[in-house]
Amino acid sequence: MAYKTRQRDAIWQVVVSSDRPLTPLDICEQAGKSVEGIGIATVYRALKQMIAEGQVRHIDIPGVQPHYEAASRTHHHFFLCERCQRLFDLVGCLRGISSLLPDGFRMKRHEIVIYGDCESCVGKA
Ligand SMILES: [Zn+2]
Ligand SMILES: [Zn+2]
Repeated sequence: MAYKTRQRDAIWQVVVSSDRPLTPLDICEQAGKSVEGIGIATVYRALKQMIAEGQVRHIDIPGVQPHYEAASRTHHHFFLCERCQRLFDLVGCLRGISSLLPDGFRMKRHEIVIYGDCESCVGKA
């Protein structure tokens, strides 16, 4: 396999096997364990290409650095730890969200982010 293909493959493997969304730096560090010499610019380039091809989704939450996840993941929401700034996947959705809408409004999509402390941060002073 060509070097560039191996790099891209390593980046993809990190994204698709992660149980939570990752930042480019997370991806760079983890992909670097399987293929040497993966730099942050390579990660950004690969992510851009994978987004264009519909494999990867960009998660943009105000005030949080961009995270990325496999686009094949089913509908879900996020938990942001305000201490370690890690983003976690939440399973499922809430019933009856559309009941919040005023009469005559129609929901097309929604995002839910819950903010708090993650399991490893919750006990810390
Ligand atoms: Zn945390
Ligand atoms: Zn939902």
